[in-house]
Amino acid sequence: MRTTGFIYHPDYLKHDTGIGHPESPQRLERLVQHLLSTPLWGQLTHLRPDPAPLEWVHSVHPERYSAMIKVRCLGGEQVLDSGDTRVCRDSYDVALLAAGGILQGVDHVMAAKERGAFCAVRPPGHHAESSTAMGFCLFNNVGIGARYAQRKYGLERVAIIDWDVHHGNGTQEIFYDDNTVLYVSLHQYPFYPGTGAASERGTGKGEGFTLNCPMGAGSVEKDYVNAFQAKILPALHAFRPELVMISAGFDAHKDDPLANINLTEESFAVMTGMVSEISAKYASGRIVSVLEGGYNLQALPRSVEAHVKAMSG
Ligand SMILES: [Zn+2]
Repeated sequence: MRTTGFIYHPDYLKHDTGIGHPESPQRLERLVQHLLSTPLWGQLTHLRPDPAPLEWVHSVHPERYSAMIKVRCLGGEQVLDSGDTRVCRDSYDVALLAAGGILQGVDHVMAAKERGAFCAVRPPGHHAESSTAMGFCLFNNVGIGARYAQRKYGLERVAIIDWDVHHGNGTQEIFYDDNTVLYVSLHQYPFYPGTGAASERGTGKGEGFTLNCPMGAGSVEKDYVNAFQAKILPALHAFRPELVMISAGFDAHKDDPLANINLTEESFAVMTGMVSEISAKYASGRIVSVLEGGYNLQALPRSVEAHVKAMSG
């Protein structure tokens, strides 16, 4: 049995997105409630994070960007972009606490071999570009975590596998010219946010270090497994990551209200198994998984359970 950390803070519920918003505090409330009722809960190492020091936020975002988020949240603004990224006065602090969750996840897996961490955080992060908040995201949590792993622990190669149903335009933008972070995404395409064509492969020395696997509406587990076997696993073997991170969205579930992919809870376990093999081979079994989307309040908790179980097996 591997030691898997479960990173959560009750203050994540303070990020208030307003009535009817899919990225609601209930997502984490229901997740924790569900996991508490399973045997898995007692097997996890429960960790409570601190806010990320700005030094680490600024490894990915310019100082003027975090200052702008702070001013706008504390100033009482309710919307940060064209409409869907809603915030409240607490959102800046909660976003720092979310990023801090990933730093703690990295610390947990780096402390010993054969360790995983699931960071049950919100707001999510993969749509946040270096200087743009969008798609419910303020700071790019997984990106901040990848930079932290590189700079604090001296890792050279970090792989980020993003199976959220939406393309992680923010993570792609941050690492587009970087050959030390391999960014892999499977996402419904064409779809929000519009990026993520297979032809987007990175630029300069980062060329070939962005791998987009666009999936048609209606895709099922077999299509995802095929993409792993044909493209993703070969790319991961060639890259030999020293740390594997997952942008774990669960909105590719068949019951999710925001998209049209037909994965099941078990599909997330299957993908976790493939990622775990890569991690065992190159990264001493270290995996940091970061919650992104997932908006069906029944499917999300069950999918996370299947994922974390597979990560801990
Ligand atoms: Zn999503």
